[in-house]
Amino acid sequence: MFQSSPNHIESYYAASSRALQLQRPALQQDMEVDVVVIGAGYTGLYTALNLAEGGRSVVVLEASRIGWGASGRNGGQVIVGFSCDMPPFELALGKSGSREVWRLTQDAAQEIRRRIADHSIECDFSEGHLWTSVLERRVQLLLNWQDEASRKWGYDRLRFIPKAELHRYVGSNRYQAGLIDAGGGHLHPLKYALGLAEAAEKAGVRIFETTRAARYVERTDAVEVHADRGKIRANQIVLACGAFVDQLDRRLQSRILPVGTYMIATEPLGEQRARSLLPTGCAVSDNQFVLDYFRLSADHSLLFGGKCTYTGRTPGRLTEGMRNDMLQVFPQLADVKIAYTWGGHIDITMGRTPDFGQLRNVFWAQGFSGHGVVPTCVAGRVLAEAILGDDTHLRLFSGLKNRPFPGTETLAGLFQVLGMSYYRLRDYV
Ligand SMILES: Cc1cc2nc3c(=O)[nH]c(=O)nc-3n(C[C@H](O)[C@H](O)[C@H](O)COP(=O)(O)OP(=O)(O)OC[C@H]3O[C@@H](n4cnc5c(N)ncnc54)[C@H](O)[C@@H]3O)c2cc1C
Repeated sequence: MFQSSPNHIESYYAASSRALQLQRPALQQDMEVDVVVIGAGYTGLYTALNLAEGGRSVVVLEASRIGWGASGRNGGQVIVGFSCDMPPFELALGKSGSREVWRLTQDAAQEIRRRIADHSIECDFSEGHLWTSVLERRVQLLLNWQDEASRKWGYDRLRFIPKAELHRYVGSNRYQAGLIDAGGGHLHPLKYALGLAEAAEKAGVRIFETTRAARYVERTDAVEVHADRGKIRANQIVLACGAFVDQLDRRLQSRILPVGTYMIATEPLGEQRARSLLPTGCAVSDNQFVLDYFRLSADHSLLFGGKCTYTGRTPGRLTEGMRNDMLQVFPQLADVKIAYTWGGHIDITMGRTPDFGQLRNVFWAQGFSGHGVVPTCVAGRVLAEAILGDDTHLRLFSGLKNRPFPGTETLAGLFQVLGMSYYRLRDYV
């Protein structure tokens, strides 16, 4: 897919979880099951877990390791809603359809808490997410969202924080105002993915790692998936491949653009210093087009994310660039060392709208566009419901039309670079 990939850089998450110790076998035989799921990120794991709870036999094939994709390397920010916000849903699905989408995302944010409790997943979950505005003129966007959320979607968990009170939440002068969402939170994303995998296995799901699905073939009443050392025959296939679907399904590939995005983790700061940055322990994202987001880890490191690349190349002097971004927010960290730098790929669609669908026995969910911790939970529910016989929600999401990107990946990347430059300029001029 990419000439060079940021994925080789070891993340803070890999170093602070049991991911490196736990390993599942590769597929070595032919099998027959009800459903085969491709990809052991959140989308695949949620879908598999829900299907197993619904009585289906399920196998998950993962090309690398559980959570190797975006699910095990993200910012861990649990944010209610989708990347595209609500207007595209209203436009495509009308009032009642978009209300239902909002209800599903709220349910999903609660389901994450329930899954953590029910399956005793130790993933350092913490409550609270804060939106901030760097620019004075974007403060109004926070107020607009608070008003819209309450009026249109009946969501009253947002509270506006004026600049004078912001120091209670974030030890930085960079922001003009904030909007705290009590329904949001943050977690250790890789520990969470591993916990979901264990829950799925307890429910009967079999997961094979280092097993790439090379191709699938549709038969009259079944689907056959071919991997290096085995073949799986199933009634249905679920494609949950994130940014990596590649030639497994060209149709799906044409609707997403893989975009590289990056994070750093500081050395542990000690509890007192960490608390001086984020006194309530909430996660923070700003409302710039290319946003910065950050939070504290359980060992009091600052995890800071931002930057995007559309070219497939890891930016030069990445750690230095990310550190400079962090110092714009927290200049008081100038003496602190950066312990980890890593990146991952997100799957963006043209309109940043999710791409969920079904064609005969093939089901898929992709296009989370950089905001998937909560939306993948929606996807897992919607796909599993449809396979278990109720496709009401899947039909609803199919109402969103995701157009293919023009031309090749390189050309699509070029259009995105131009688009991003425009929005970046708008952010700063
Ligand atoms: C750096 C970064 C920060 C982010 N921060 C946030 C955040 O703070 N909050 C938020 O909500 N979202 C965030 N996101 C987005 C979020 O992580 C993703 O939207 C979400 O994890 C997508 O999950 P997924 O299961 O669809 O895809 P992935 O997690 O990418 O999983 C797809 C899996 O499929 C496997 N696969 C692909 N093809 C095959 C094949 N042919 N055979 C077998 N396996 C295959 C891959 O190996 C991979 O493991 C971030 C993403 C990144 C990269």
